[in-house]
Amino acid sequence: MTIPFLDLGAAYRELQPEIDAAVQRVLASGWYILGPEVDAFEAEWAEFCGAEHAVGLANGLDALTLALKALDIGAGDEVIVPSNTYIATWLAVSAVGATPVPVEPDPATHNIDPTLIEAAITEWTKAILPVHLYGQPADLDPILEIARRHDLAVVEDAAQAHDARYKGRKIGSHGDVVCWSFYPGKNLGALGDAGAVTTNRAGIAERIRLLRNYGSREKYVNEVQGANSRLDPIQAAVLRVKLAHLEEWTERRRTLAAAYQEGLKGSDLVLPSVPSWAEPAWHLYVVRTQKRSELQAHLADKGIGSLIHYPIPPHMQSAYGSLGIEPDALPLARRLADEVLSLPMGPQLTVKDVWGVIEMTGPRE
Ligand SMILES: *Cc1c(COP(=O)(O)O)cnc(C)c1O
Repeated sequence: MTIPFLDLGAAYRELQPEIDAAVQRVLASGWYILGPEVDAFEAEWAEFCGAEHAVGLANGLDALTLALKALDIGAGDEVIVPSNTYIATWLAVSAVGATPVPVEPDPATHNIDPTLIEAAITEWTKAILPVHLYGQPADLDPILEIARRHDLAVVEDAAQAHDARYKGRKIGSHGDVVCWSFYPGKNLGALGDAGAVTTNRAGIAERIRLLRNYGSREKYVNEVQGANSRLDPIQAAVLRVKLAHLEEWTERRRTLAAAYQEGLKGSDLVLPSVPSWAEPAWHLYVVRTQKRSELQAHLADKGIGSLIHYPIPPHMQSAYGSLGIEPDALPLARRLADEVLSLPMGPQLTVKDVWGVIEMTGPRE
């Protein structure tokens, strides 16, 4: 038995004729920067997310960075971030010169605990940046309510949450700006780097459009100091193909997750806990165990891939040594990093594969 953690080649092969035709179309068009494919993807992605605007960007980190920039967040400002996230969430805050202020998660959902946010707000706080970790929506209503009361922006890191729903409504327009990554392994993945923001705020969309293209609306006229973070039209064409299959692929993930939840019930693993209002996109299926290294080695021995998301929390990375946060100052982030394990998950995996994993993962002597 060999079950890879994720098989990106299989995802390509499933759609190969459509993807190849889309790439060919761009190659033959003679148009290689922005243009009609990017416009079309932006319209389709905005509609899919139920947002008024989408702006295609080079990657997810830029989506977060340009969103903060468009909100005028910079040096001297603070942004509240989860203590347990991929480091990109923090790096975007640092990239604009602001300081990430970590808040611990609810250990049941792995998402930022809204009841801990207010204690972290200071006179310098400008925004709250929740992450929909592993594809499970964060509890947005209390976060939006706190933001309203303290006049803060809400920027969502939705890099893992394509097609997830919060209280019946798709992620994509709850906060001021919602930031997407289309990194190949994400639920909607390009064949290289790509990203986007969605928003209902026309002015913010317009600013990000300006910022992604050298601060320029009209060639060689630069209104602001922008970046080069344009979505590649070849990637836009690929994303349009894959977007048409996203809901079906999310359904497959939900079926696989349900099989895991059923099959691992009663094992000594801590399973994902899904609040009644959450419809996760199951980017990852993450269990917790204090015997992680044994389990991971056992699975590897049986040919089953697994990964750790993420082994070192941002505050313990040397990249953030300058913040001087003690490892134990964020005990939950530290503990989750020691216990989480992501089992194989992806739309090309079969229920039979998942039962194979369950058999090898369940109660052992
Ligand atoms: C993937 C990811 C990002 C960054 O996206 P890139 O496209 O790789 O820059 C940001 N935040 C989270 C939570 C992610 O999973």
